[in-house]
Amino acid sequence: MKRKAMWLLLMLMLLTVFGPAQAQADVVYESDMILVNKVYGLPWDYEPSDLTEANVAFAEGVVQSRKLMRADAALALEDMFEAALEDGIELLGVSGYRSYYTQKTIYERRLEEMGEKHVSRYNAKPGHSEHQTGLAMDVGCPGYTDLTERFAKTDAYKWLRENAHLYGFIIRYTKDGEEETGYAFEPWHVRYVGDEATAIWESGLTMEAYVERKLRIASGTDRLPRLYERDE
Ligand SMILES: [Zn+2]
Repeated sequence: MKRKAMWLLLMLMLLTVFGPAQAQADVVYESDMILVNKVYGLPWDYEPSDLTEANVAFAEGVVQSRKLMRADAALALEDMFEAALEDGIELLGVSGYRSYYTQKTIYERRLEEMGEKHVSRYNAKPGHSEHQTGLAMDVGCPGYTDLTERFAKTDAYKWLRENAHLYGFIIRYTKDGEEETGYAFEPWHVRYVGDEATAIWESGLTMEAYVERKLRIASGTDRLPRLYERDE
């Protein structure tokens, strides 16, 4: 078994030991910078406390329950879509918040349809999807709402790549980031991170690498165990 560096989990455990566990845990899960990936997950019963419908244009047929995001993220998405429109770019929301069980259903169905190899690059296991945080939205533009890599060729994607950070979003799964994020390039998946979006964008790092670097600086040591496990 490879060594798992569980700095954030350690913090979580400390918070659980000291003080009102649920309230403290929510504080951690509701940080704009919460890192959810193949290593760090959310409990099955975690649901963001302030889910709200993002008031933006959505692709045809998107049900109300997929239009939800956390309040700040929804407002930021609205600002971003408006700004895009002013630049002549029409963005469409496709899929926002998903509960643990919605993700479970999706994951199991995709596993059956596509097999393990594909699914491990594109679909998170339940509890490990950013969509459960309420901070992620899959987006498209007219003619490109099927959440495939061809979205990367559109002006809408190019606009997002240059501007999303101004509204607190990052393109979470980049072309060069697969080894670190664990996921294939997903040009359509934007993640709200709030104030640090521009710093992340400027760094050119994946969120994993950015958080890891931040923890190293905060700890003042190079001996901090790796945040994200990789075969080396
Ligand atoms: Zn997504």
